[in-house]
Amino acid sequence: MTQIVEMKKEMRAVTSVWRRAGRRIGLVPTMGALHEGHLSLIRAAVAECDVTAVSVFVNPTQFAPGEDFERYPKTFEADLGTCRELGVDTVFAPTADEMYGPGAETYVMQERLTSVLEGASRPAHFHGVMTVVLKLFHIVGPDAAYFGRKDYQQTVVLRRMVADLDVPVEMRVCPTVREPDGLAMSSRNQYLTANERSQARSLYEALTRCRELFDAGDRRAEGLREAMRERIAREPDAQIDYVEVARPDDLNPAQSAEPGDVALVAVRIGDTRLIDNIVLGDDDT
Ligand code: AMP
Repeated sequence: MTQIVEMKKEMRAVTSVWRRAGRRIGLVPTMGALHEGHLSLIRAAVAECDVTAVSVFVNPTQFAPGEDFERYPKTFEADLGTCRELGVDTVFAPTADEMYGPGAETYVMQERLTSVLEGASRPAHFHGVMTVVLKLFHIVGPDAAYFGRKDYQQTVVLRRMVADLDVPVEMRVCPTVREPDGLAMSSRNQYLTANERSQARSLYEALTRCRELFDAGDRRAEGLREAMRERIAREPDAQIDYVEVARPDDLNPAQSAEPGDVALVAVRIGDTRLIDNIVLGDDDT
């Protein structure tokens, strides 16, 4: 039986019973509109934990004015059915008013990591993400929390937060799930027209090209970036936000690429902003 919980207090009561019974609690934070990427995290949580909570919350504080908060896809009934099928114990789906009480003005800040790449384009984004994830950690109290490598920088920022603030949660990061042609699954893919959808393949193709060059021995990071830019620039409606080859832990740009470095791209295709990444020297992404 999958239980739906909308109130923070009730969610805490549920998990405190689990905790007292000594059960390992898994948490999968999502914004709903669940796809196979989310499902892989949920499956991992259900397999590795005794009880699993999935949060479904489109977090207003991680969207800037003019971003897609209002039109973000909402498919709650289908999401619930999926969670039931996968054996999720509780779906936590608070309203924004329930999540953020009146007068809320406290946020989690992080210095450098949140100001580069995604943070350069979306300055308040990670503060919203960190704040809501820390709140979810406090409300649910998970032993392990599951995130996708698709949002690579998010995993780096959250690991940093967990280490810096001594949060007793094990961070689990799962590989990126892709469409057959390589496009990383994303709730935002449904914004794409058919023509844009075919141009969106360029992100993964650019990353794959980068990996091929790396595997063939090319270590000049600037050359790898240039090869990615060149592939994406072939698409008429693609506008590059950034293309980077960076160190895995601090996201500093690489001069000479090494195994474990991560290639990251952010591209606007028409009105839709897509991100993707692969880890060099690792075929699992
Ligand atoms: P979202 O609902 O977009 O906030 O995503 C919730 C979680 O699912 C995040 O940890 C994402 O990184 C993860 N996720 C989203 N897309 C994918 C994907 N294609 N493969 C693996 N994980 C994903």
